[in-house]
Amino acid sequence: MEQEALVRQVEEFMLTRVIPTEQEHHHQLQSAANRWTYTPIMRQLRAEAKAKGLWLFPLPVELGGRGLSLVEYAPICEIMNWCNHGPEIFNCYTGTISNSNSMHLHASSELKQRYLKPLVEGDVRSCISITERNVPSSDPTDLKFDIRRDGDDYVLNGVKSWATGGCMDECAFYLVLGATDISAPRHARHSMVLVPREAKGLSLGRIETVMGYDDAPFGHCDLIFENVRVPVANRIGDEGAGFLMMQSTLGVGRIQLGMGAIGAAERAMMEMCSWVEKRIIGGRPLVERQVVTDAIARSRIEIDACRAFALQTARRMQEDGMKAVRGDIAQLKVLAPEMALKVLDRAMQFHGGAGLSYDTPLPEMWAHMRTVRIGEGADEVHRETVAKVELKRQAEWRVANRQT
Ligand SMILES: Cc1cc2nc3c(=O)[nH]c(=O)nc-3n(C[C@H](O)[C@H](O)[C@H](O)COP(=O)(O)OP(=O)(O)OC[C@H]3O[C@@H](n4cnc5c(N)ncnc54)[C@H](O)[C@@H]3O)c2cc1C
Repeated sequence: MEQEALVRQVEEFMLTRVIPTEQEHHHQLQSAANRWTYTPIMRQLRAEAKAKGLWLFPLPVELGGRGLSLVEYAPICEIMNWCNHGPEIFNCYTGTISNSNSMHLHASSELKQRYLKPLVEGDVRSCISITERNVPSSDPTDLKFDIRRDGDDYVLNGVKSWATGGCMDECAFYLVLGATDISAPRHARHSMVLVPREAKGLSLGRIETVMGYDDAPFGHCDLIFENVRVPVANRIGDEGAGFLMMQSTLGVGRIQLGMGAIGAAERAMMEMCSWVEKRIIGGRPLVERQVVTDAIARSRIEIDACRAFALQTARRMQEDGMKAVRGDIAQLKVLAPEMALKVLDRAMQFHGGAGLSYDTPLPEMWAHMRTVRIGEGADEVHRETVAKVELKRQAEWRVANRQT
């Protein structure tokens, strides 16, 4: 019951504070002298959400979170994603949650005090830095970025790319994955190191655009490391355990992402239905065309089927652990964005020109959802996992049933 009340509170906050101020956020960004910082309205909404306790829902209470289980958190992920910047308002951006979790479990108490505390308070932001432009980062075991031990320090050299949020003024530190022993077995080569923003030898490189959007105020940038020195104590987790540690945080992130895609599709549905009721073409509202009601029906069927699967996956993951549902998580990673892209596309189409402009949040949501098919691991890699799990299941079934 308490959980239901919390879901209603988030819903109310999205409907009365976040969605009605979307255009204000957009205009503030457009006219900002500096685009790489929270807009005033975002700052205000974050403060309001925090004051209401609508903050860090899945993190433990001792970190200032609500301590929600995955199953409890899932519906909230959906609602926060009615708007692209929704999760940020509640300090629930996926990277913030996974970085906080990694640091909570694996960082020294000094690092926690100095970096994790302001992160969960919402005073600073962080960034996860894995990808390297010259290495196919779909397979992070191949990453070459050099982290070399020198006495009590690590010395970092190389370029990281696509660091989301890396150029924000609020970004105070980077969690960087690099090779501490390139000759070790693939899954034991890499370590995670915390690098403060002000570290000597660290500079920001080019800022990417994503299908024309710069994704301000977060952005995605290159980070250039030239003999950057950090104490060995800045390592998060054991040496060589970086890859496995990173993998272990992915499950929650993927549920958050899947539910987020469902939230985006629901927003598209809201926009589509209210528009087709109002838009009069040829003397009658668009909604009276069968092609429109058919699209609405298809969208409802697809969203509800995807949500049922996502919630089932969240429940199974909570009960049986991530390994037991790795095939389902991979399925959800492919299914949910594909579904959301279809629903968003239908909503954009019925809006005509308006559907491709800043009059609606639809094109920006579509662009964001399209990036998920690559940015959160390429779909092909996830389909490969689905196929592997299925082939193993079939082989086991054949043995159990004495089939050849
Ligand atoms: C918007 C956005 C935000 C991002 N944010 C971050 C961030 O914050 N931090 C960070 O470190 N990185 C970030 N990334 C980078 C992202 O994680 C990588 O782009 C992604 O892992 C893919 O790596 P790659 O670009 O090197 O593509 P590659 O690994 O070169 O893959 C290219 C293509 O090859 C195909 N492919 C790959 N593997 C297989 C396979 N096994 N079977 C069949 N086909 C395959 C797929 O079509 C894939 O798209 C972001 C990317 C985007 C677009």
